Amino acid sequence: MTSFTVKTSAPAVRCALGLATVFAPMLVAAMERPVSRQVKMPAIVRLLADIKAETPKPPLMELVWKGADIDGDGAPDFANPTGAAPRGHDAFGDGEFGARRDGGTRAHEGVDYVAQAGQAVRAPMSGYVTKIGFAYAGDTALKFVEITNPALGYAARAFYVNPGVEVGQTVRLGQSIGTVASLQDHYRGITDHVHLEILAPGGDRVNAAQLITPTMVAKVGQAA
Ligand SMILES: [Zn+2]
Repeated sequence: MTSFTVKTSAPAVRCALGLATVFAPMLVAAMERPVSRQVKMPAIVRLLADIKAETPKPPLMELVWKGADIDGDGAPDFANPTGAAPRGHDAFGDGEFGARRDGGTRAHEGVDYVAQAGQAVRAPMSGYVTKIGFAYAGDTALKFVEITNPALGYAARAFYVNPGVEVGQTVRLGQSIGTVASLQDHYRGITDHVHLEILAPGGDRVNAAQLITPTMVAKVGQAA
């Protein structure tokens, strides 16, 4: 029985030794692996963190008004006088070009840009001040400023402005030309606005909303 046992156990021992020979390096490797795994996992985590950090956040967008470049010099030739959108519908009608006025007997010849009374009015065009006049006969409170740009052949009239410029003065695009006058004494309840007329070469009034268009751009100087 013993010799049988020895005989049968001898291959078993050899087998065990063989297995040990095979598995010992794996066991060693397995013992080392936890160490190497601890090194590798954070590396992957760091890589993922880096990828996440490098993925650009969607930029914050803002609406800006873009002036048409009609002379092709790469710079805009028109600017929104108030920075706000054209007036929508109120009890006095719509602010868009061509809107009905006086029961449809005439069309609105400008575009009304919503404003706060007292805010700055920006020059809708570069040029020089060719006229300061009254918007309505018999009402000296509401004035307009006319800017002419001989190089472009265009003129612009900004209405309901308390002028901060004088006739003959040169103005840059976007420069303050005065402040917004309140319309509440003249049209009680109306949305205060700047009425802008653009006169093309030849004197025809054209739609300012086609020359000053809204666009969404990434906010400049936004860190996060
Ligand atoms: Zn108007």
